[in-house]
Amino acid sequence: MRCKKCPHKAVINLPRHHIAFCQSCFTEFVHTQVARGIKSQRMFGPQDRILVAVSGGKDSLALWNILLKLGYRADALYIDLGIGDYSAQSRQKVETFADKAREAYGANLHIHTVDPDEGAGIRELANVLHRPTCSTCGTVKRYQFNRVAVEQNYDVMATGHNLDDEAARLLGNVLRWQTEYLDKQAPTLPASFEGFAKKVKPLYRLTEREMAAYAVINRIDYIVEECPMAKGAKMLVYKEVLNRLEAESPGTKQAFYWGFLEKQASNKHTTETMATHDRAVLHPCLTCGQPTSGEICSYCKMMARAKTPA
Ligand code: SF4
Ligand SMILES: [Zn+2]
Ligand SMILES: [Zn+2]
Repeated sequence: MRCKKCPHKAVINLPRHHIAFCQSCFTEFVHTQVARGIKSQRMFGPQDRILVAVSGGKDSLALWNILLKLGYRADALYIDLGIGDYSAQSRQKVETFADKAREAYGANLHIHTVDPDEGAGIRELANVLHRPTCSTCGTVKRYQFNRVAVEQNYDVMATGHNLDDEAARLLGNVLRWQTEYLDKQAPTLPASFEGFAKKVKPLYRLTEREMAAYAVINRIDYIVEECPMAKGAKMLVYKEVLNRLEAESPGTKQAFYWGFLEKQASNKHTTETMATHDRAVLHPCLTCGQPTSGEICSYCKMMARAKTPA
């Protein structure tokens, strides 16, 4: 099989596009898809400072790599969740990549460690709070990413969610008709309130398989294992279902998610209403100053509960 763009041997075929590429043309294809997403969704410009949320997995490290290669000013933030070997290994992958990024592009890595104040690790904290680990983790991650982005004056926060992640999330939201979440599922979420960072997902046009191939071809050393807490998560089931549909009919995931985005764009009203609504009800948390709809934000409430003796 030959590359569609040059005489070299193809290393990957993309059934959804009826196309096959060699290593360098595939890398170019991925960069073009990301650049197209950034432009069409008005994510950021060349002068903006970007904070990439990195986990040590393929998507987030590849995203950091792509943004630097495209010439953007991108730093990263890693949150050490204190989950045994998984956190130790993922932190090491992130630090190794960050050393190279610093040397080649002058990029910086910020690290937040879930410290004794938050519990010994995310699992211990969740146990103290009698809450599921992943929802505790979500609150900590959202809070810390926003805090670093705002305190360090980043213009935008980028995450490595890919097409599979977004299509699976959409399927979950549609199956339960969670319209309040549907309204907020977009590749670009504006900073709706002073103190909230703008959030973007530049990999929304690329599948999980394509990102894994990109990481391997570009020699990005990432942690292959999923977080041990992800086992049994609904998202994995939705992804499996979508993969079966995709195998039967290539392009299904893309048609599902991109079709949703087109409908959302034609209903501009949604995002405008959302931004106005957020602006109207949010104000600074009395404890930490981050925006919240109550007097105390959910992170500060959680921490106060963790410190209260049972
Ligand atoms: S699987 Fe759960 S605990 Fe692990 S990183 Fe994801 S949200 Fe956090
Ligand atoms: Zn080629
Ligand atoms: Zn707070």
